[in-house]
Amino acid sequence: MSQSQQYRQILIVDDSPEDCVTIRRYLSRDQSMLYTIHEAHDGKQGLSLCQEVALDCVLLDYNLPDMNGVAFLDRLHTLFKQPLLPVVVLTGGGSEMIAVESMKSGALDYVLKKQLTPELLRHSITNAIEKMRMQQQVEAQHVELMRQRHAFQTLAENASDIISRYDPALRHIYVNPAVTKITGLPVEAFLNKTKCEMGFPEDFCATWEKNLREVFATGKITQIEFSYSSTIGLRIFQAKLTPEFDSAGQVISVLSISRDVTELKETEAALRESDERLHLAFSAASMGTWDWNIKTGKVFWSEDMEALLGMAPGTFSGTYEAFCDLVHPDDLVRVTAPLQQALQQKSLYQADFRMLRVDGSVRWVTSRGHAFYDDDGQPVRMIGVDLDITERKQSEQQATERASELEAFFEAIGDGLFILDTQGNPVRLNRAARGLMGVKTGMLSERLSIPPLPFVDEQGRPLPDEQRPETRLLRGEHLAGPTASDMRLRRATGSEVELSVTGTPLLTEDGEVGGAIMVTHDVTRRRRLERRTHAALDALLMMAKSLISTEGPSVQTEQTGRAVMQRLAELTCRVLDCEGALLFVLAPGTERIEYSVGTGFDASLLSPLLNRVQGMSLKDLFQIPAVRQLREGGVVSLDVSQPPYHEYQLHPHLHRAILAPLCLHSDLIGMAIVYPMDVYHRYLTEEVTLVTAVGQLAVLVIERERLLREREEARVRELTALETTRRIDDFIGIVSHELKSPLTAVRANVQLAKRQLNRILSYQGEPDGGAVPDIATIGNFLERAERQIMTQTRLVNDLVDSTRVRMEKLDLQVTRCDLQKVVQETIEDQRQASLKHAIQFSGVEGEVFVWADAQRVGQVITNYLSNAIKYSDEDTMITVRLERCGSSVKVSVCDQGPGLPLDVQQHIWDRFYRVPGVEVKSGTGVGLGLGLHICRTIIERQGGTVGVSSTLNQGSTFWFTLPLYANANELPLKEEHTPIPN
Ligand code: ADP
Repeated sequence: MSQSQQYRQILIVDDSPEDCVTIRRYLSRDQSMLYTIHEAHDGKQGLSLCQEVALDCVLLDYNLPDMNGVAFLDRLHTLFKQPLLPVVVLTGGGSEMIAVESMKSGALDYVLKKQLTPELLRHSITNAIEKMRMQQQVEAQHVELMRQRHAFQTLAENASDIISRYDPALRHIYVNPAVTKITGLPVEAFLNKTKCEMGFPEDFCATWEKNLREVFATGKITQIEFSYSSTIGLRIFQAKLTPEFDSAGQVISVLSISRDVTELKETEAALRESDERLHLAFSAASMGTWDWNIKTGKVFWSEDMEALLGMAPGTFSGTYEAFCDLVHPDDLVRVTAPLQQALQQKSLYQADFRMLRVDGSVRWVTSRGHAFYDDDGQPVRMIGVDLDITERKQSEQQATERASELEAFFEAIGDGLFILDTQGNPVRLNRAARGLMGVKTGMLSERLSIPPLPFVDEQGRPLPDEQRPETRLLRGEHLAGPTASDMRLRRATGSEVELSVTGTPLLTEDGEVGGAIMVTHDVTRRRRLERRTHAALDALLMMAKSLISTEGPSVQTEQTGRAVMQRLAELTCRVLDCEGALLFVLAPGTERIEYSVGTGFDASLLSPLLNRVQGMSLKDLFQIPAVRQLREGGVVSLDVSQPPYHEYQLHPHLHRAILAPLCLHSDLIGMAIVYPMDVYHRYLTEEVTLVTAVGQLAVLVIERERLLREREEARVRELTALETTRRIDDFIGIVSHELKSPLTAVRANVQLAKRQLNRILSYQGEPDGGAVPDIATIGNFLERAERQIMTQTRLVNDLVDSTRVRMEKLDLQVTRCDLQKVVQETIEDQRQASLKHAIQFSGVEGEVFVWADAQRVGQVITNYLSNAIKYSDEDTMITVRLERCGSSVKVSVCDQGPGLPLDVQQHIWDRFYRVPGVEVKSGTGVGLGLGLHICRTIIERQGGTVGVSSTLNQGSTFWFTLPLYANANELPLKEEHTPIPN
């Protein structure tokens, strides 16, 4: 029981006080309820109380003094419009009529007074109140229903979606007006008809019927999508089919709402397309998107983002830490600092940094992000885009490098570089240009404004504008090569420099001259040098000419050599613009100073120095490393103010001397010493070249002088030798003649004496005992004398032959002769002469004819044999061999003597050559070293060759060849006197 029902306000409308008391009494018995009871004794009073008091129930006596119960109820109804108040009708003597009348007029219960009990009364009241409440509820539900129906109707009637309701036979029981817009059919055309009956296309009907039946059968909501060719074109619809149930849970109808989703679909397709395009664009632009949940630390990457780092889709592990791991370690701060700043200042996040691809390569990315904040201003999310800018970075880096390279290059160029503006004013200068202008700023990266260059003319007056190189450049002229202009510039210090100015105009995009680059090359020294070089070259040329034109060696003396060297020293001094120069000439094969010349110094100092160094060795003058360097052709720089060189100092302010070697081939034959005025002076290549030329000339002069001298000496030696030889030959001729004549006589007389003695011995019988030994002794003496004479004769013959050879007067009596016979006869003669050696001959079958002087050939064989006998031990075998060798014949004499070393074998055929230390084993040791020389001459004159093969301690084989007679016609020996070159 609700709290309000515990108290009930009851109105008794009854004109009978007793009945009122009874009712009060009855009600008071109800323990469960507290009643406040109002009483009205007529209808009018009762109605007014109904209006004044909030009553729960009215107990109405049907028969009232002023009206009956029906009238009361009618008037109550009129008052309240709705039956708000439950009324129980009480009547004394009732009839069914009264009960029906009362109930019709709105009474909720009817009780007869005489049947009234406390329980019945209480029940009737409660029943009436309950009925009233129920009635009110139904009424309210009805109102709500009506309201909802109205709302639905309104909605449905105004909806753009098509709404329809179907009965179980699939007939339309409702369609809203939207259907007309699509189908062009009025609403009424649909009602109580199925789609098929309406003549919609078959497919369309089939889809609908299938799905409607399903919803009726299953009671489950279904969705379908279909296209319909409507009055406004082909449209796509999505329909939701919702079952409607009765109280028994049966589906009694299906409500469908069809929505035109054509635009949605198109938008979706467009969106999909645009998504794809975006994806394409992202991957083409090497872009990726990311989404960072700052609260959870989770990071979402688009596939493009993964692709950017070469990662397979879905392999990024999706955390902030994982992202940081992929950032180049050196660049982490490039990410975190801007990120923090963006989050703090709630600004756009923007960072450029390097990321590591999975293949280890490095990519530059530029990242942009936008953060979202919660109500407390805390960042919760950031989404952004990363773009691969590696190429851009690389080209930026290259551009920066190129710019700095350019700057360095610009600065490093030794020539002055000026970048001029359109007025011709220098706006940028390199180091050299700044030095020229005496300013400190104006590098490539800066810009300055200084007045134009102070060019002057020959007379030192400012150069007219039209002649200035800037003017020409700005006119569009290119100054290069032949068009380069030589300019003079007056510096702030007042000194003038000579410049070779080149340059080119700078054109704008429109082809207009927007400035110019001007290059100034300082040619001051070069021009000065050129002038000096011209002078020096002239001098050199003159000198070279004078050297060549010097007539004959007799004119060349040491004095002229010295004079030329002196001029060379002066020339060196002039070319190098130095304080002084010395030239030292070394004696050949030594490193001693033969003579020296100098220039540029006071004679009182120079002469003693030159005298002092005369004959000195380089090692005495200079330290060892310096000498070594000179020998290797290197230039040496010496501090002549310091020991040990200070004692040779020629002038107190001279500090430095430069020593240059003068070399012929690899021999040091002299040196040049120059004393530069300025210690730090550097010589130009041209100067060095010129000095080298002077040096070469000096070398030539020295060498020429030396060669001339040597030639002179050689000539003298040759003349002397010739004279000596002539005298010796004369002498030998005379001596041999003088020797030979008496010896011939001696020999003849001795022979006569011997013959005489033999005659005495044979005709006079036995001589007496005393005389016989004396005569024998005479014979012995005579034999010995004969041998001596033979030896002397041979010597003299050798001398005579040698002289003839030299005088080219050796006569040969050539005939056709058998060489084998000549050899055999000669061997026989030798066997007679020397019995102590066995001489073996090995020849050939028959005769061996040669075209030769048999006697001279015999002389050769005799010489070979007598040498073999002379130089080999007694009892050793000597073998003579004769053999044919092709078109010639070879005769060799082989002994077992001491043999000859190889170096000796080369000289053995020379005139007067004797091998030192060779022991003579038999016969006389007398020999002049002429025999073999004569042998060679004899054989070669007859078209043959000679030779020896020998091994030390194993004997020697001397041989000669002669052409066989058959080939005699081919012999060179046509005449009997064939000169033999010596
Ligand atoms: P000589 O009359 O002095 O022997 P040769 O011209 O005949 O002059 O010989 C020159 C030198 O060659 C000899 O002095 C000797 O030393 C050397 N000689 C020549 N023949 C022989 C040989 N068969 N064995 C060793 N030495 C020899």
